[in-house]
Amino acid sequence: MTAEDNLRAINQAISQAAERAERKAADITLIAVSKTHAAHEIVPLLDARHVHFGENRVQEAAAKWPPLKALYPHTVLHLIGALQSNKAAEAVRLFDVIHSLDRPRLVEALAQAMAEHQRHPEVYIQVNIGDEPQKSGVALETLESLVAHARSLHLPVVGLMCIPPVDIEPAPYFALLAKLARRYNLPRLSMGMSSDFDVAIQQGATDVRVGSAIFGPRPPATDDL
Ligand SMILES: *Cc1c(COP(=O)(O)O)cnc(C)c1O
Repeated sequence: MTAEDNLRAINQAISQAAERAERKAADITLIAVSKTHAAHEIVPLLDARHVHFGENRVQEAAAKWPPLKALYPHTVLHLIGALQSNKAAEAVRLFDVIHSLDRPRLVEALAQAMAEHQRHPEVYIQVNIGDEPQKSGVALETLESLVAHARSLHLPVVGLMCIPPVDIEPAPYFALLAKLARRYNLPRLSMGMSSDFDVAIQQGATDVRVGSAIFGPRPPATDDL
C-alpha cells in the first residue's frame, strides 16, 4: 500500500464514521501528519490534491515545507506539537493553524508575533484532558482563564485540541473536550489519531490528525507527546 492508497482508505473510513455519527464528512478535516517523513514521501499526497498537513516541530517544518508550499500554494500547514515561546514568530510565519497553545506566556508571544508579521493563523488551545503530569496542554482548571486571556489579546481561537491518555478507552476524554468546547463557544475540535479517529468523529471531532495510518510507522520518538 502506498501513502496515496492509505489516504484514500482513511478518507473512506472518515466518511463511514461520519455517516454512523449522522454527520457530514465535509465537516471533518483530515490532517495528514507528515512529521519525520521526507518531502519525497509527501509530494505524492500533494499531487493527489491533499491540502492539510501536520508537523510537530517548528525546525523540521521550516526545513521541509517552504519549497513545498511554494509549489503547492493551497496547502494548509498545521503545527500540532509543543511550541516554545521563542519560536512563536517562526511558527506564525510558517504555519496556517496552531493546535498547541497551552500557557499565558505563549498567548503573549503569539499575539506579538501576529501583530508584527500581520499573519493570523487560527489557534486551538491544547487541553491536558487526562490530567497527566508528563503531558503538555493546559490544566482543566486553568482552561477558562487561558481562553479569556487569548481572547483579550485577540488571538483567533477557534477550538480545543487534546491527546487522550494511551491504553484507555478514549471516548470519555473526547466527549469531555467536546463539552468544554461548547461551554466556551469554540466550534472546532482537534482530536483523534490513527488508532481512534473514528471514535473521535463519533464524539464531534472536526479535525483528525492521522500520521502512521497514512505514511506508515515512524522511528520511535521520545518526545512524541
Ligand atoms: C504524531 C502525532 C499524531 C499522529 O499520530 P499517529 O498515531 O501516527 O496517527 C497526531 N497528533 C499529534 C499531536 C502527534 O504528535
